[in-house]
Amino acid sequence: MIDPDRLALEFQTLLTIESPSKKEGKLAYYLADIFKALEYRCFFDKSSENTGSEVGNLIVKIPGTLPSSPIFFCAHLDTVGPCENPKIIFDKGIYKSDGRTILGADDKSGIAVLIEVAKVLKENLFSYPPIELIFTTCEEIGLLGAKYLDYNLIDAKEGFVLDSENPNEVINAAPSSYQFKIEIKGKSAHAGLEPEKGINAIHILSKVLADLPFGRIDEETTMNVGIISGGGYVNIVPDYAEAKGEMRSHSEEKLSKLQKKIQSQLERVLSSYPKTEDNFPSGKVKFEKLFKAFNIPLDDPLCKVVQKAAEKIGLNAIFKKREGGSDANILNEAGLKCLILGTGMQKVHTTEEFIRLKDLILTANLVLEIIKTKSEMA
Ligand SMILES: [Zn+2]
Repeated sequence: MIDPDRLALEFQTLLTIESPSKKEGKLAYYLADIFKALEYRCFFDKSSENTGSEVGNLIVKIPGTLPSSPIFFCAHLDTVGPCENPKIIFDKGIYKSDGRTILGADDKSGIAVLIEVAKVLKENLFSYPPIELIFTTCEEIGLLGAKYLDYNLIDAKEGFVLDSENPNEVINAAPSSYQFKIEIKGKSAHAGLEPEKGINAIHILSKVLADLPFGRIDEETTMNVGIISGGGYVNIVPDYAEAKGEMRSHSEEKLSKLQKKIQSQLERVLSSYPKTEDNFPSGKVKFEKLFKAFNIPLDDPLCKVVQKAAEKIGLNAIFKKREGGSDANILNEAGLKCLILGTGMQKVHTTEEFIRLKDLILTANLVLEIIKTKSEMA
């Protein structure tokens, strides 16, 4: 069964191993040593060639004692900053940093739970299906590890990502997200001496942006312009301006409508200017998909497994939508159906991040119960 002291001790050790994005090597090798000592096979994929991390994603194979289909559990190795030389404080059952750094419970709480569960499985107290653990790199800088994961190394077709807040909340849906960049090219000229020879790119860009909808578009769609830049001197008509932003929605169709809206707004504004012989002003907009939406229906067997497992440990599982992206978006898109589980981590990505030890223990019990429930239902 889950050993709370062993779990707590391991969690504390993990918190002291720095693992900013791209520098997950030390942590990854530490984990590989633990799993090898448990006689589980470990693989590093070649994703580092594309992610720029010093190490690939780590995949651990726990052979099952049942001949049923495998399931996977995923957690990410990297943390956001600041994370240098962390000092961990444990007070009244709560882990936090000394206020200089993040804590790193995002996502070391998930990692600690998976180590503890792997140790319990080794004791062979009950039968279980084959289990694959996926530890990804570079999640915090664009889900890169998951994007370049070697899916040939994964046999499981369904599983769970441990990377959310409350242990009783299960994320079964998340939005799609695109980033966009609008670029305007005008013509420079001295602003005081011959402004009529110039075409002001900033002015054009501001007209494009002025009539676009930003903020909450509807209950499942948002759009933001977050960065604007261009020009260089107050006395020169700027010949270049750009704006960068993002859009999210649980509906792919609504995102494609928003994209068309930006495109047509750009064309409309540009067409209101006479063109020079060399074709100025000009403009373009580029869209880049960051992640794709997923939505696992509540009657899906995977949701049923969690619900049942949670019930068994006295937890009332609540299924929720999430507004951000995570490895689960990438895995679902790649055909690895998954839900996101909370681990108890709170105020993540801030120096006030904290986690209650009791939530960490609860999560470990839930994961273990999910494995048991899954084998009973197989
Ligand atoms: Zn995370």
